[in-house]
Amino acid sequence: ETYHLSDEAPSIQSLVEQAKKLYDDTFENSSDISCAVAPGRVNLIGEHTDYTLGYVFPIGIAFSTACVGTCSIVKENEGECKIISVNSDAPKTISFKSCRDMKPLPNDDKDSWSNYVAGVVYEYIKLLPEKTAINMEISICGDVPLGSGLSSSAALEVAVATFLEVAIKKEFPNFDLGEKKDKALRCQSAENNFCNSPCGIMDQYVSCCASKDNAILIDCRSLDFESVRMADTGDEKPVFVICNSNVKHSIGGGEYPVRVKQCAEATKILQSVCGDRIKTLRDATLEDVEQAHKKRKDEGPALMDDLIYKRAKHVVTENKRTLDAKKALTSGDWKSFGALMNESHESMRSDYEVSCDEIDFLVETAQKFEGVYGSRLTGGGFGGCTVTLVDKSRVKDLCEHLKKEYAAKYDNLCPCFESSPGVGAREIQLS
Ligand code: ADP
Ligand code: MG
Repeated sequence: ETYHLSDEAPSIQSLVEQAKKLYDDTFENSSDISCAVAPGRVNLIGEHTDYTLGYVFPIGIAFSTACVGTCSIVKENEGECKIISVNSDAPKTISFKSCRDMKPLPNDDKDSWSNYVAGVVYEYIKLLPEKTAINMEISICGDVPLGSGLSSSAALEVAVATFLEVAIKKEFPNFDLGEKKDKALRCQSAENNFCNSPCGIMDQYVSCCASKDNAILIDCRSLDFESVRMADTGDEKPVFVICNSNVKHSIGGGEYPVRVKQCAEATKILQSVCGDRIKTLRDATLEDVEQAHKKRKDEGPALMDDLIYKRAKHVVTENKRTLDAKKALTSGDWKSFGALMNESHESMRSDYEVSCDEIDFLVETAQKFEGVYGSRLTGGGFGGCTVTLVDKSRVKDLCEHLKKEYAAKYDNLCPCFESSPGVGAREIQLS
């Protein structure tokens, strides 16, 4: 399927035009310009389950990132990349060499966004034949809010990866770039290795393979995905509303790696109790976790302490909720879907401890509102966004209510918007 700029939504057209304008203002070259776009995402349920290879259930959203520019594969050991972004504080070009022994760039904060791009370039250099490199000049423009849990980072990585794949296909038409999951894995490696973020595969994968009107159930172990259509229950069909708390607690960035480690610790303990049928937390049942928590070594302390127990309990119950949510979505059982969202939030709040006051307030305010089926924190946590399932006819009132209550309590804005499942990364023909 070929996407033409003229067929895209106005918001995408505007992103591409802004990126193109910055490109023209910055770089000389004006022929052979190509363009790729990738969306951010909102996870409906299945939070903090991807890095233990469980299930996640996100949708692609209308907010996206566009990458516009020129790229060539050169038969040299070293190339040069010049990048600029509309969204960085000081839009100036950042240059780096592309070569086989690329490293994360010296990382003063202001320019750190370039590591997301450099990481992706590195993954593609590794794929290309020896003694080839990448020359590129690109401009980036996105409207995914940065650092709000809607995955602007994956949108950036996947837009750049999609852009590079276009250039590689042009130079080597028979080059095997693999499937969408391979692209997602490359982008995940970029973020893991260049951005110091031990993230799972969810964000990059859904940005690659999202499709209109479908939620994407991803099995993070097999890396199979299933596009799951929301049941059509006529006019009664509810919609998803995203609400951005506009807070990002500084503790958040540091806690994510701590959760990753706690899950690894839980896995080790479960292996010692249940044997090697437990490869990751994905393989454990709630009974396994309860058993490890009760088990004591020679009447000493429990093998699994209370904290690790709570972390493991969130993950194993969340995996089950995610599979149940898929059934509820396909059968149009909105009540059950909403109840699962509410349970997921409670589990993230009290067991995984990744919520915060502002988010709890938005979730509880939504949950009490007439026409709402369920609401929860979405994304990594400690701020960011909530996602709420609500009757279509109640969307406007809900958004107004949330904004009013939030302003009264926190003297802050919380932008709200309806988001139906949108399409994943694609090349866009500019003319
Ligand atoms: P999230 O993915 O939830 O938005 P992250 O902290 O993972 O939050 O990623 C945000 C970072 O990604 C930004 O601080 C910036 O470095 C980078 N980024 C994302 N989109 C862009 C963009 N359009 N231009 C420049 N940097 C971007
Ligand atoms: Mg991110």
